[in-house]
Amino acid sequence: MVNENLMIMNNFQGMAKRLTTLLKQQGIANDAVLSTIEQTPRHKFMPESLVHKAYENTALPIGNGQTISQPLMVATMTQLLLQHDCHKVLEIGTGSGYQTAILAQLIDKVYSVERISHLQYQAKRRLKQLDLHNVMTRHGDGWEGWSSKSPFDGIIVTAAAKEVPQRLLEQLADGGVMIIPVGTEQQTLYVIRRFGDDYEQQRIGDVRFVPLVQGALL
Ligand code: SAH
Repeated sequence: MVNENLMIMNNFQGMAKRLTTLLKQQGIANDAVLSTIEQTPRHKFMPESLVHKAYENTALPIGNGQTISQPLMVATMTQLLLQHDCHKVLEIGTGSGYQTAILAQLIDKVYSVERISHLQYQAKRRLKQLDLHNVMTRHGDGWEGWSSKSPFDGIIVTAAAKEVPQRLLEQLADGGVMIIPVGTEQQTLYVIRRFGDDYEQQRIGDVRFVPLVQGALL
């Protein structure tokens, strides 16, 4: 196991290349997204015991009952976001910080909110280690968004909400776009666009995320 981990750490780009080849086959066409995934050390965003699975196309546990999202989902959501002109983005559900790291390499300014303080702290450290300084993270409740930094050109929610949070709709810039999984048992990924006071919703497909929890911060 230790030797295998060392091999992955030393050769992560080779393994990440294999992963991006797979993502391409699965329909990810945005070259910037693919090359960013290829250059990002996903193994640094998880417990050491799981590093040997870091470049598999699967979600993995990161503690506190949470998961690092599946690479295909990260790529899909990022690609959807980049179809629009996004310079300032809010992410809800920092988790490991992996999706945040991908966004930070593609978008000028990224804000990210996480409900579990331990995860937020770890993610912040990882992002700093990777010299990603255009990110601000915060321990808080994603249902509230981050109003003092709003409006956002894009909002990406990486946990499933039982309904679209009103505060997030309000913090979206005119012309802005939100990528959000909605539902409990049955979840659907939506792209929501704001046009003044009107919101237009496009259904992308069925997905599976941990819930966007309502209530006390941990
Ligand atoms: N993008 C992350 C996904 C983590 S899973 C990654 O790839 O690692 C979703 C995250 O949303 C979890 O860390 C969970 O704690 C967080 N979350 C759930 N409810 C939340 C809320 N109300 N506010 C902020 N974060 C929340």
